[in-house]
Amino acid sequence: MIGVGLRGQNHLSNLLRRKDVNITAICDIDDNMLQRSLDIFKKAGKAEPKIFKGDPFAWKKLLEMKELDAVIISTPWEWHTQMIVGSVEAGIKYVGTEVMLGITLEDHWEVVRAAEKHKAQVMMLENVCYRRDVMAVLNMVRQGIFGEIIHLQGGYQHDLRGIKLNDGTSNKEGVEFGEKGYSEAKWRTNHSVHRNGDLYPTHGIGPVAQMININRGNRFISLSSFSTKARGLHNYIVDHGGAQHPNAKVEFKLGDVVTTMINCANGETILLQHDTNLPRPYSLGFRVQGTKGLWMDLNDSIYLEGTSPKGHTWESADPYLAKFDHPLWARWSKETEGAGHGGMDFFVLHAFVEAIKRKTATPLDVYDAAAWSAITPLSETSIERGNTVEFPDFTSGQWMYRKNDFAVNDQF
Ligand code: NAD
Repeated sequence: MIGVGLRGQNHLSNLLRRKDVNITAICDIDDNMLQRSLDIFKKAGKAEPKIFKGDPFAWKKLLEMKELDAVIISTPWEWHTQMIVGSVEAGIKYVGTEVMLGITLEDHWEVVRAAEKHKAQVMMLENVCYRRDVMAVLNMVRQGIFGEIIHLQGGYQHDLRGIKLNDGTSNKEGVEFGEKGYSEAKWRTNHSVHRNGDLYPTHGIGPVAQMININRGNRFISLSSFSTKARGLHNYIVDHGGAQHPNAKVEFKLGDVVTTMINCANGETILLQHDTNLPRPYSLGFRVQGTKGLWMDLNDSIYLEGTSPKGHTWESADPYLAKFDHPLWARWSKETEGAGHGGMDFFVLHAFVEAIKRKTATPLDVYDAAAWSAITPLSETSIERGNTVEFPDFTSGQWMYRKNDFAVNDQF
């Protein structure tokens, strides 16, 4: 495992619960995070791993170990490309990476080309694809319950002010970031200072992309993004640190709400929102709409023509979500207990591990990861230039022939 910060430790705990996985080595540059990880090994009663630390390129030494079947990368976004490419070049055939393949479109192309050249599987560990309600809705979409799919929505709507700005020793209220920050405040906040776009599209796009077979008979064609002004992070600093605090002078480039529209080859549109700097309850804002009705996650509501009560009335989605519970959840729900994020973290790692054991392709592959990650640089360009931008086709035309094998049975 490369990177054992808060997310890496989460993966560590879940993997140490499994009987079919040995974590032989971990790498990080933060001794505190390494110690917390060793405590997790101890608590699980597992043998201590080899430790690689001391400099930002210590991970290259880890990759020289001969006995590795796979690597999991949970570092800051700006490290992902070189760590993924370095892993496949070192001969690792399975790389699980946390969200975002890299920063620029060139980064994403580099990962795709390296994976193709070395015949390696690069899976983005996009856990929301495995959320129970999302999978039940995927099941409904595949059974035609919504008719033909017309429009989808999703996003990342999560008040991250306390994560981007904290007291520097924990994720508690504060105004520090960069060198003085804790966990994601050390690095993620800098992206809000320097970049304006949908910086975190994958939790919203991953699930809906599966519902309309992106890269498997369909593809993203073009995108247009719009950004609001930036107020939330500055106001938070002033409220918690006072107008005289040095960070009150920082100008954040990231608009508080970034809205993106995507046009797809088969005629659907997707609306995505990135909303992380303002007070609000968490919601990914899913909407899945077809010719026969729609589901929206926010109010747990559904409307199906001919089934729901007439008169423009919403129904609770609960009975439908129970009836169409995905076979994967029906089979594995016991194992998900305590796995984090409502159980979906179990599935994403389970899929990765099972693919390695069976020597098959991972159900989410490098083309998924690249298409989803591309939204960030494309949205930055669209906002900067004020125009619509075209998506690259990372599959080089193969999208017309590829089949969707994500969650098609109850195995993984
Ligand atoms: P974090 O800051 O807590 O952890 C990152 C770790 O990487 C730190 O321990 C840091 O010391 C280490 N690191 C930095 N540079 C390194 C290097 N050169 N070599 C080795 N280690 C290095 O952040 P996090 O919250 O754990 O986020 C990590 C990744 O996980 C990000 O991509 C983030 O977006 C993703 N994430 C995903 C979810 C999810 O639900 N899927 C949730 C949280 C975070």
